[in-house]
Amino acid sequence: MKKKQFAVIGLGRFGGSICRELSRQGMEVLAIDIDEDRVDEYSSIVTHAVVADTTDEKALKSLGIRNFENVIVAIGDNIQASILTTLILGELGVRHITVKALNDYHEKVLSKIGADKIVHPERDMGVRIAHSIISKNVLDYLELSDNHSIVELVAGKRLAGKTLIELDIRANYGCNIMAIKREGEINVSPLANEKIHIGDVLIVIGDDKDLSRLEDQLLDDD
Ligand code: ATP
Repeated sequence: MKKKQFAVIGLGRFGGSICRELSRQGMEVLAIDIDEDRVDEYSSIVTHAVVADTTDEKALKSLGIRNFENVIVAIGDNIQASILTTLILGELGVRHITVKALNDYHEKVLSKIGADKIVHPERDMGVRIAHSIISKNVLDYLELSDNHSIVELVAGKRLAGKTLIELDIRANYGCNIMAIKREGEINVSPLANEKIHIGDVLIVIGDDKDLSRLEDQLLDDD
């Protein structure tokens, strides 16, 4: 398989963590930052690390940025630099541009100038952590849209020993159990007669209201 090529612009904690993980996954990564010290820090981790000001179109062109299938803009506080960089990447014809947004206004501008994917790591992580703090049964939470989510729920006494058909979560709650994690293994197509064990992690997709009803009625109180 041909290795995918990624460029990551901005080597703060967010961009840096993307670089490390992409490299760990065996991807080719070009890491770019205006700050020499940050570039030095990543030179032994990624395929290439270069110092460049990405608001300079010539600098981006000379790096051959248009040949990269995916470019991630992880410039933090400097919204102006983030916007200008995104604009130039779009004009140069980069196909998939992912940008970290600092706030809603930043997101609005980014979506108008051609960012393909806009992420809010701090906000999204905050939401996920809040959900897992509210209920000890919720391990993780992923928002799919304003009304739909995927949650990871830990099965307790109330669910133990019951089969999926007995629970009939789809008919009773309008949600679907997509997979069950048990002792490190994941079953992505659980059968109707699958019995739930205490400690199983159920990966459930549904409307937020239905998911809350399911959490309230089917999971142990404490
Ligand atoms: P975090 O560390 O949580 O990711 P952050 O998103 O605020 O925080 P910063 O520490 O601001 O990240 O890091 C953004 C990086 O982007 C910095 O290393 C900065 O040098 C780099 N950067 C800022 N402007 C440019 C630019 N014009 N060209 C290239 N890199 C830039």
